[in-house]
Amino acid sequence: MLQPVDIGKRTLQAYRGVAPDDLLDALLQQAQSLHGARILHLNATPYGGGVSELLRSLVPLLVDLGLRVDWRVISGDDQFFQVTKTLHNGLQGAAHDLSDDDRAIYLATVERNAAQFSEDYDVVVVHDPQPAALLPLHGKGAARWIWRSHIDTSTPNASAWEFLRQFLGEYDAAVFTMREFVPPDLPISHVEIIPPAIDPLSPKNLPLPTALARQILDWIGIELDRPLITQVSRFDPWKDPLGVIAAYRLVRQAIPDVQLALVGSMALDDPESWEVYRRIQAESANDPLIHVFTNLTGVGNIEVNAFQRFSKVIVQKSLREGFGLVVSEALWKGTPVVAGRAGGISLQMADGVGGLLVDNVAECAQAIIKLLQHPQQASALAKQGQTRAQAQFLLPRLLLNEIALLSATLRSGPADSGAPIAPQPFGSSPGSLSSALRRDPVCGMILSETLPPITAQVDNLVYAFCSRDCRNHFLAQPDHGRFRC
Ligand code: UDP
Repeated sequence: MLQPVDIGKRTLQAYRGVAPDDLLDALLQQAQSLHGARILHLNATPYGGGVSELLRSLVPLLVDLGLRVDWRVISGDDQFFQVTKTLHNGLQGAAHDLSDDDRAIYLATVERNAAQFSEDYDVVVVHDPQPAALLPLHGKGAARWIWRSHIDTSTPNASAWEFLRQFLGEYDAAVFTMREFVPPDLPISHVEIIPPAIDPLSPKNLPLPTALARQILDWIGIELDRPLITQVSRFDPWKDPLGVIAAYRLVRQAIPDVQLALVGSMALDDPESWEVYRRIQAESANDPLIHVFTNLTGVGNIEVNAFQRFSKVIVQKSLREGFGLVVSEALWKGTPVVAGRAGGISLQMADGVGGLLVDNVAECAQAIIKLLQHPQQASALAKQGQTRAQAQFLLPRLLLNEIALLSATLRSGPADSGAPIAPQPFGSSPGSLSSALRRDPVCGMILSETLPPITAQVDNLVYAFCSRDCRNHFLAQPDHGRFRC
């Protein structure tokens, strides 16, 4: 049996008054048809990083909605996770290739896990590349299978993608965070675009009184009378922690008393983080105003919550980013963000809300200085970001997307029939936009009615969008039909 992950109990009703009512109502109604459905979520780690963060919140709520859901993880040794991190990096565009030995290690480990997979499910959702080969190595059985990618595969290294691609052909559906991430030769015809979301009721995002946040940070060594900027991220080259230190040094020239915290977790499936951690330690060794913390030295959800609330600016200087939950986490807390213009970050901060997007170290430093020196402007941007996070990036919206996906996947006939799946109706006739299940055709999000509608009429269909950026992107495309996948 694959290792199960222990989860808590949650109720959707607790989200009343926190997440938009229209999304909660639609969710309760839509989930009825899935009552009793047996679902497995399968990934590589129970802690560290965005996927485990999502599943820890998503799975208990699916259970509360009447589905029978398990969360299990595959097991592997350090060598396996070295290989899967190389694969992950290759899929995000790094040049390094997998050797023949690497490929053999990957296949042998997933095969061992496949031999332990004996449960009966209606739908198996496989997250990211680590367990992707489990389907061909185990066989499909009676279940429908979904591959959920959380990474930026817009410009993959060809050999990494070719290696992964061979395992995907039998999946019934694939989910990506952004349309740009879908490789053109993906061998799966049913593709959904679904951006992730944060859980406003997790210990990381719960309201935390200012006095308590201050006490927590004081206790671990933050100087409360100095302005604080923080990046919370796995220690990963794509998150560019050394670029953050370089930007911080430029900020110090303008604002000498500023301090930097780099808060990073070591995920079970990310052995590279130790190497990055050593480089950060070496780079910051002689600067007492750079603080480096990890989950292994006691910085957990509550501490991250305190950092995201107390910091004057949250930095997320990613070079590539699947989504970047940390951005919505900060915005939800009303903290302005300076972030790399990468992947799903631009979606969270669409239309210029939430803070400033940057493309290099110098811009990052300038943006931080600007927000530190103009606190009113910073807080107005943060407020807009908070409104957007509440309308579009809280868990109930993601659940609604997931329920729609599960329903569509189960409706699509026997697993081996190859029957085409009906496209989701994104557009609707003019004047009939009141449905709670309006979806943005660009980013795929189900739209809450709490935001003023942003629409466009094309070929006698009215399309609704989460932002002017999504609408502009849509209107700039010559072929609107491609948005109907
Ligand atoms: N995180 C954490 N402690 C850390 C670093 C990260 O709890 O020291 C959390 C962070 O708050 C977020 C998740 O890990 O919820 C990272 O998700 P994200 O999507 O930002 O990045 P990923 O790690 O998936 O690339």
